[in-house]
Amino acid sequence: MRLSRYFLPVLKETPAEAQIVSHRLMLRAGMIKQASAGNYSWLPLGYRVLKKVERIVHEEQVRAGHIPLLMPTLQSADLWRESGRYDAYGPEMLRIRDRHDRDMLYGPTNEEMITDIFRSYVNSYRDLPLTLYHIQWKFRDEVRPRFGVMRGREFLMKDGYNFDLSKEAALHAYNRHLVSYLRTYERMGLQAIPMRADSGPIGGDDTHEFLVLAETGESEVFYDSEITDLKFGDREIDYGSVEQCQAVLEEFTSRYARTDETHDPALFDQIPEARRRVARGIEVGQIFYFGTKYSEPMGATVQTAEGGKVPVHMGSHGIGVSRLVGALIEANHDENGIIWPEGVTPFPCGIVNLRQGDGETDAACERLYAALTKAGLEPLYDDRDERAGAKFATMDLIGLPWRLTVGPRGLKNGVVELTSRRSGASEELAPEDAVARLQ
Ligand code: ATP
Ligand code: MG
Ligand code: MG
Ligand code: MG
Repeated sequence: MRLSRYFLPVLKETPAEAQIVSHRLMLRAGMIKQASAGNYSWLPLGYRVLKKVERIVHEEQVRAGHIPLLMPTLQSADLWRESGRYDAYGPEMLRIRDRHDRDMLYGPTNEEMITDIFRSYVNSYRDLPLTLYHIQWKFRDEVRPRFGVMRGREFLMKDGYNFDLSKEAALHAYNRHLVSYLRTYERMGLQAIPMRADSGPIGGDDTHEFLVLAETGESEVFYDSEITDLKFGDREIDYGSVEQCQAVLEEFTSRYARTDETHDPALFDQIPEARRRVARGIEVGQIFYFGTKYSEPMGATVQTAEGGKVPVHMGSHGIGVSRLVGALIEANHDENGIIWPEGVTPFPCGIVNLRQGDGETDAACERLYAALTKAGLEPLYDDRDERAGAKFATMDLIGLPWRLTVGPRGLKNGVVELTSRRSGASEELAPEDAVARLQ
């Protein structure tokens, strides 16, 4: 992509309305524009990151054996009357009436709709286990939408629902989700800690939230410092294996880690004092097991091998896809801007032309641009007629992991400069070696 032809409306001034760094940087880097309170347009740069995050979420769900589909954002109130949640959900639900005076709502979550899909088609235990998920916009009329996309009113969520014959099978689905979430966050370069949580309006017994530690997080968290040493890494996992998934759950949840909602000071005090941590965190996901809470009232049953009929055991599992973009920036930035982890960067590398209009420099940049593109590296080439300082500032702000700087002086010696955004370290290399390095 050539910056001269792109749409990257960066802001010079720090927007006054933004209270936290990720919101400020997303506005300044031209990633989002507020459309109304808690409601954002994703401008091209932000959209690229959102799509990268979404793709990682998809890939890890499919790897775990979960099946994607897509449900609409608008739902009929009748389904929610069946579960009893239409009245219970409260003012966070955006209620709409259509021209025929039918009560509709913009879905804040999809337990009812997925249960309706399930009961319409599935009758036999032979069709279980089944986990369906989608990545779709949600609406919650938050009392205080704030922090940009971190607490929006319209936001993108991955929500998945498992259907199983027994509690044991449903707990395996729960564990499978826990493992897939650990992998998902790690692939984005984020550490998200599973913490025992409270079930809130979705209801249920077993639930964990995943929290990214950050000073600007809205939840107070209490944990044993040992938990931050745990990494899932690139270990192999067989998602079909009950034992393997259970072992990961035990490994990642055996140390104390709770949010303020479930915090137990007496238990916390049993941890050696040097390991006790009180901090703040951003909730980037949550998993629930809730048994037959929806299947029973909504009649989602299956025939068992013995011929009886039983309601299925269910759980729901969410990832805050759009919130993750903010959380990623909270965890990866410095005073000059964003520092994207490689897995989610909008472009893998940038090219800065120090002397736009100089024949040789332009030609060298074009060759680099072509070679990187051919290698599938999608460079963002700053080919604007701007001062070097302004180009560097833009690159630092938008945070691409690698910058290639091309100027007449280096070219005289046959080199370009390769700079890491994270470490700031630079190296002079022949252009073809720089391309090889980035592959
Ligand atoms: P919170 O406690 O932050 O209000 P929640 O517990 O109500 O979130 P869930 O119902 O667990 O949210 O939804 C799954 C995920 O969706 C959350 O873990 C979070 O990452 C994301 N999410 C929830 N509400 C919002 C929001 N208003 N804006 C952006 N993301 C959100
Ligand atoms: Mg909420
Ligand atoms: Mg919550
Ligand atoms: Mg939650």
